[in-house]
Formats: sequence, C-alpha cells, structure tokens
Amino acid sequence: MARDPRYDILFEPVRIGPVTARNRFYQVPHCNGMGYRDPSAMAAMRGVKAEGGWAVVCTEQCEIHPSSEITPFVELRLWDERDIPLLARMADAVHAHGALAGMELAYNGPSGSNLASREVPLGPSHLPVATFAYDPVQVRAMDKADIADLRRWHRTAALRSKTAGFDIVYVYAGHGLSVFEFFLSRRHNSRSDEYGGSLENRVRLLREVVEDTREAVGDTCAVAVRLTADELIGAAGLHRAEVHDMIGLMAELPDLWDLVLAGWDNDSRTSRFAEEGAQEPFVTGVKQLTTKPVVGVGRFTSPDAMVAQVKRGILDLIGAARPSIADPFLPKKIEEGRLDDIRECIGCNICVSGDMTMSPIRCTQNPTMGEEWRRGWHPERIRPKGSDAKVLVVGAGPTGLECAVALGQRGYQVALAEAAREPGGRVASECRLPGLAAWGRVRDYRVAQLRKLPNVEVYYDSELSAGQILEFGFEHVVIATGATWRRDGVARTRLEPIPVDGGMAVMTPDDLMDGRLPAGERIVLYDDEHYYMGGVLAELLVQGGRSVTLVTPAADVSNWTHNTLEQKQIQTRLLDLGVDIRPHRSVSAIAAGAVETVCVFTGRREETPCDGVVLVTARLPEDGLYLELKAREETWAAAGIRSVRVLGDAGAPGTIAMAVYAGHRYAEELDGPDIGDAVPFRRELTELAPL
Ligand code: ADP
Ligand code: SF4
Repeated sequence: MARDPRYDILFEPVRIGPVTARNRFYQVPHCNGMGYRDPSAMAAMRGVKAEGGWAVVCTEQCEIHPSSEITPFVELRLWDERDIPLLARMADAVHAHGALAGMELAYNGPSGSNLASREVPLGPSHLPVATFAYDPVQVRAMDKADIADLRRWHRTAALRSKTAGFDIVYVYAGHGLSVFEFFLSRRHNSRSDEYGGSLENRVRLLREVVEDTREAVGDTCAVAVRLTADELIGAAGLHRAEVHDMIGLMAELPDLWDLVLAGWDNDSRTSRFAEEGAQEPFVTGVKQLTTKPVVGVGRFTSPDAMVAQVKRGILDLIGAARPSIADPFLPKKIEEGRLDDIRECIGCNICVSGDMTMSPIRCTQNPTMGEEWRRGWHPERIRPKGSDAKVLVVGAGPTGLECAVALGQRGYQVALAEAAREPGGRVASECRLPGLAAWGRVRDYRVAQLRKLPNVEVYYDSELSAGQILEFGFEHVVIATGATWRRDGVARTRLEPIPVDGGMAVMTPDDLMDGRLPAGERIVLYDDEHYYMGGVLAELLVQGGRSVTLVTPAADVSNWTHNTLEQKQIQTRLLDLGVDIRPHRSVSAIAAGAVETVCVFTGRREETPCDGVVLVTARLPEDGLYLELKAREETWAAAGIRSVRVLGDAGAPGTIAMAVYAGHRYAEELDGPDIGDAVPFRRELTELAPL
C-alpha cells in the first residue's frame, strides 16, 4: 500500500547542522535498564528502531565521568576510551539501517549520589543530592577549577562519541537530571559569581559547554541541547517564559533544540494523566525563537496529530520514546499506509519500570521489546511454523489474544475460544475504569491482526469444558483463562483470611468492574496490592458518590507506581478528590458496621465505621480447566493431545505486560528445540581483567 499523501510532510528530510535526518521521526533519548550491563541487547533494540524507519535513534543518558554516576540505575558510560567499542556497537546497528545515531552525554551532578564511585557529587551550590531516594549525600559547590574540569570532561566525551560513530551529540539539561539545569535553576543555584544570579550568568555554563562541544565535534556532528521547558511548579521553578528567555540567549548556538518537561514524571506522564500531545503548550513558541529544528514529545501515535504539530509550526521533528518502544516500525507503517498495523502505546509506563527496577526494558504492547538480541525476537517477523500441529487457545484476554496472533503469524492453524461475547478479558473490563481507556488498545491491536489471519478462527460465547477440549483433538492446548480477585483479604500483609461479619458488604475489583458499587455511602477500600487498581477504584467510588477511606500497609497509595512515575500524580488526585488516605495500616477484621485496622509498626488497633468494604488484595488463577485436563492426562494421547500449557494470569496472575509476554513466548517457542536446563536467553558476561 502507498502512504496517504496527507502524511508526505512527515517524510521530508530535515537538516540538523552538518547531518540530515531522512524524515521527521526522531527517537529521543530514552532509558532502558540495559545500558552498560547489556550493551549488545541495547544495540540490537536501537537497531530495530532504525530498521523500522526512525530517522534518528538516540542512546539513553551516558555518564561522561565517574565523578557523576547514577548507581543503582543502569545507563551508559563513557568514562574512558575503553567504553567506546560498546557504544560503537549501537551506532553501527543504527547506521546499518540508514538512521542517524544520537548520543546523550550526561553529567548528573546533584541528581546522582555516586554510590559506586564514592566521589563527592558536584553542583552549583551546597545542597543535598536531588535523587529518587533520600540518600544521605550532599553536593559540593563547584569552584572555577571544577568548572574547568567539567568542561574538559564533556569535551573529551564529545570527541569519544564522534570516534564511536555518533552523528548527533547532546548537551543534556533536562528532566531535573543534569548539572547544567541545576545551574539554570534559581532554586538550586545560589552562587554569587558569574555562574549565578542573573539569567545570563545561570545560562553561562550551558552556553560554554555547547560552544566547547561545537568546537570539538561540530564540523561533522550535530550538537543538540535537551532542555527542560517547564518544571510545572510555577514561578519558583524553571518555567516556560524564563526558559524561552534562556533559549533566546543562545538560540542559534546548537543545531537542534529538544524540549522536555521536568521531572521525568512530568515528561513521561501516563495516559491516565495526559493525552497525546499534552506537551504542546510548553513547546509552542520555541520555533519562533530559533531557526534551528525543534523536537518534542507527546506520546504521538497518530499521524494526523504528528502532521498537525509540523503544519502548525510547533515541532520540526516528531520526538518519541514510548511510541517507538511499543512500535519500532511506526514510521514504516505510516509510510506504507498500514495504519491499522500500528501497535499503539497504551501509556502505562511499564517500559519505565524496567529502568526504575534496574532490569531490562519491557513493553505491554510489544512483547519483543528488550528481547531482540537475547532471544532473537523481532517486532514484525516471526519464524514460520515448525509443524502442521493445530493449536487451541482458550481465553481471549491479553495472553490468549497475543498467543493466537503470534501463532497465526507463524502459520499454525489456531482456534481461539472465549467464554465472553467480546474479546479482551481483563483489559475489556479495566479499560472502562477511570483513566484506563487506552488499555483497550492491547485488545484492539490484536483483534485487528486476527482479522488478517484466515488460519485463526475465533469463537466467542464459547465457554469450554475439559470434556469438549478432549473431544476436539487439537495437538496443543493453551489455557489462558485468567484470574479473579480474592474475596478473603489474603495478600502480602495477611496470609490468612480476614474475619468478616456477614452483615457487611465486601466487594472485589471484579464486582466493581461488573458495574456493581457497594450500596452504602462510606466505603473502606483496602489496598494490599499496591499497583494501580486500588487508586483507580477509589476514583470510581468517588465518581459514584461514595466517600472513601483508603487503607494501605504501604507508606503511600499505589506504591508500586513509583516505578511507573505515577505515584505522586495518583496520590495528588485522590487527595484532591477528598479520599481519606490511611497509610501504614492493614485490615485485621471486618465487623457489621466498621472495619478494624492495625498499625503495621505498633500493632495498635482502630475502628473505622463504614457501610461497605472493597478488598484490592491479590488474585487467584482461574485454573480449574487446566487442573481438570491435567487430572485426565492419561486420556490425552487417545484424544490426539500432545501438550497442555497454562499461561498468563491463569498460571500466576501478573501485569498485562506479563500476560502478553507469556502468550508471545509460547508462540515463539512452539516446536522449538528442547534446551533442557540451559539458560533460555543470551547474556553478556563481564570480561575478567588481568590480575
Ligand atoms: P490473561 O491476562 O491471562 O489474558 P484474562 O483474565 O484477561 O487473562 O483473560 C482470560 C479470558 O479467558 C477471559 O476473557 C475469560 O472470559 C476467558 N475464559 C475463562 N474460562 C474460559 C473457558 N473455560 N472457556 C473459554 N474462555 C474462558
Ligand atoms: Fe507504551 Fe506501556 Fe509500552 Fe511503555 S510499556 S511503550 S507506556 S505500551
């Protein structure tokens, strides 16, 4: 198919200083939890994006010197010459597919505690470090010699980036993560020398480093500045008007302006808190300050929204991190007029959770993300089937849908049976909850793919029994029947059921998702699960006119969402909605008109009067069908069954990302070699230095 001429503008080349981007699709720097520990995996992941049509593919942040490192996070390092080959591997992978490679040099200063190098962090002023943790570490205010050192380190790193083959070298001053930004910030910079005080003075260091970089590598490499457009804390922080003045002072100095919001949680807001294109108000007007190209992000997945950004003079280059993770082939699909093949990002930030937990990146929508090198998976290609076996997949939730699609793409004859009248399983229910509409894309993308696969037959309204499955005669059976929320309160904090008085209405998330709300007005919601569900249901209950007390043993609501950068926004929203948050307490008993809670530290008990209780605790697998089939294993051979596998939530309830991954992995590995006890993926081993 040819591309729609409306999108031609997205495929115009853009000159960036001495280099030219082949189109306007720009993968901005993004973390991935692989970095220096998994460099080949990182390089392969970036290479796949170049293959998918992105014109520019950037690194994550790359530490330039051991005096500023961000242990425990795993990013890139360019501490000395020996790091060059590792980075060159990525540049080569990107060049192999005709894209430009961008290097984000980073000197974190106050945003790193140097836990590994044990160097004293440097910054504009004597202040505690500004990291995700309350590390008991302070920053030393830089003197002139430190500034000279930093300029030299940055210049050396720029030269090494060029040696490694990079085409664009960044000076990073974004996300509240860079020393240059701390110099820009009135809050953090209390200096009285020529690097503090007036706007000109606060911009001085950034300006000098951009000049140094240009002078060092600017003949062949473009120099980009990544700058915070707004910190979203009003006049006290960096804000649009002040930042525009800063850009005005050095408008033509870099070859490219890359605008972000600070902190990272504001920049990478989830779909629950920001729509596509939400950053536009902060970037609007930058193009009027400079003739140099401007890139910005906005979780852009729709080509019409992208075109509008260019036509309306907001952006020259469509920046993307998450849309390029969910679909590395987004540009190619637009170019080839295959819009319904786009695997749209759902804005869940599971990708971010990889970096935040120091584990390799993963993605809810794209199960191959992070597995390109270590498992050899590809987002658009899958090897042909290994036999003519027929496969029955039971359950069309995220696990079953992905499994059926990937098996179908391999060429297997597949039947997908679903008890409900609609596909989607848990995502069909969850996408109706407040703020989670985009979750539905997990289903929509896969249902669209199934329509293209004549070898996959889908049967709705088909609740299968073990007897039926044994009669059908499929060689392989996948049980992806999901899970249900527990009603007994057993979870992390309590391992035995909560005593419940029959006079109190106790509900689970499944009840609420089925459209039933507790009858009374005062509701206690007990969250011992700690991901999004408790917070989302508190919102739903408030929308339904209930007054909500949220009890949690954790220090804050939806505690795990620190890893998806949402926690602050969730807690703020719940407080704004009037939800009464009771942290550090677990529910010990449910009486007729009250809930008894207990302090997790002191054991002190307290009664909270209420009319209803919602337990968001843990889930139990719906594995009855699997267990019944297992119990009849001796009949499988006669029925022609070679294997029965339980996958996804029906095996062990987890995230949607885990479910999609489980379904995909099964499909990738069917009829594969038996590897016994071998490690099931490639890994990079540290090379021992001579003693
Ligand atoms: P997962 O996240 O692992 O995909 P879900 O709970 O989202 O799990 O989806 C499981 C799906 O399986 C649901 O749509 C449910 O209706 C369906 N299902 C459960 N039991 C059966 C069955 N016996 N036959 C067919 N479908 C079933
Ligand atoms: Fe988008 Fe979620 Fe994938 Fe991240 S993990 S790219 S937010 S779908």
